[in-house]
Amino acid sequence: MKRIGVLTSGGDAPGMNACIRAVVRTAKYFGMEVFGIHQGYSGLINDDMVEMGMRSVSDIVQRGGTMLRTARCVEMYTVEGQKQAVKTLNDRGIEGLVVIGGDGSFRGAKCLSEEYGIPTIGIPGTIDNDLEYTDYTLGFDTAVNTCLDIINKLRDTMTSHERISVVEVMGRRCGDIALYSGIASGAEIIVVPEISYDMEDIVLRINRSRANGKHSNIIILAEGVGTSADFSKKLQSMTTYSVRGTTVGHVQRGGSPSMADRMLAAQFGNRAVRLLKDGIGNRVVGIHKNELIDMDIIEAVSMKKKFNYELYETLQMISM
Ligand code: ATP
Repeated sequence: MKRIGVLTSGGDAPGMNACIRAVVRTAKYFGMEVFGIHQGYSGLINDDMVEMGMRSVSDIVQRGGTMLRTARCVEMYTVEGQKQAVKTLNDRGIEGLVVIGGDGSFRGAKCLSEEYGIPTIGIPGTIDNDLEYTDYTLGFDTAVNTCLDIINKLRDTMTSHERISVVEVMGRRCGDIALYSGIASGAEIIVVPEISYDMEDIVLRINRSRANGKHSNIIILAEGVGTSADFSKKLQSMTTYSVRGTTVGHVQRGGSPSMADRMLAAQFGNRAVRLLKDGIGNRVVGIHKNELIDMDIIEAVSMKKKFNYELYETLQMISM
């Protein structure tokens, strides 16, 4: 394969830039031409792209966001949009595509490879960590570290006022950001979409912790359950302790990627291009048990994300 394209799609995630860099540099290493496609599938449909070289990706390894920009593209759900995307690729002589994004972006990639025969490699770039086939997605580690920074600060003020803090974190329908932030910050309780909760039980646990000498409580709420405002209001009506809600919000998507995310970015980008160079498409790359893996894209998107109940129990045991 001599000419490939790369795009970032869906929600942005820290490490996408480092991954674009790895894709471009690996392609150039093998003497391939590489086009950076702007704004996800929109750039493919509208033929908005630029040829990239070694120096196009200088000074981005440490930057959050994506230099190619990203978008949610409704046209890509339609047959006309998909055909236009394929036409752009054919007109440009682009033989293979690297798609960096979440599960939705992977469905677009699956469609291009399965229905139209475009060799495509998916790289899991999303803070949500909601893809079953890979232990970690690109951006998750940085997002959790951003949450930790905020939770640490909240703990200072909550302890001073002996309050309960309800911290809403992202993750869509997946509770992983809440689970990992909860364990790593020492939060007492996490509330995630995968497990139903009982507010009376939460109040009991808070009362027990106060009786055991705690001066504040941290509850991590996954956005898939509801908002911190609604949850705090409900909790406040059932306790005499003062409750404050905080939404971490879009800061979770930004910031310089962590070492872990930069390492994933380098390895994912490198493997994706090596596969295309060998004429292999229709795969996704990931990390499993600390090993870089690739897998059939159809199999990967059909896997249902499992929640880590053992980690949840660990939190329950060590948090009080
Ligand atoms: P994140 O997890 O960060 O939200 P994502 O990749 O899951 O990222 P989506 O908005 O679900 O984000 O998908 C991104 C884009 O992928 C969509 O806007 C659309 O262009 C394309 N896409 C999603 N699903 C499909 C599909 N079934 N067929 C074709 N294209 C799709």
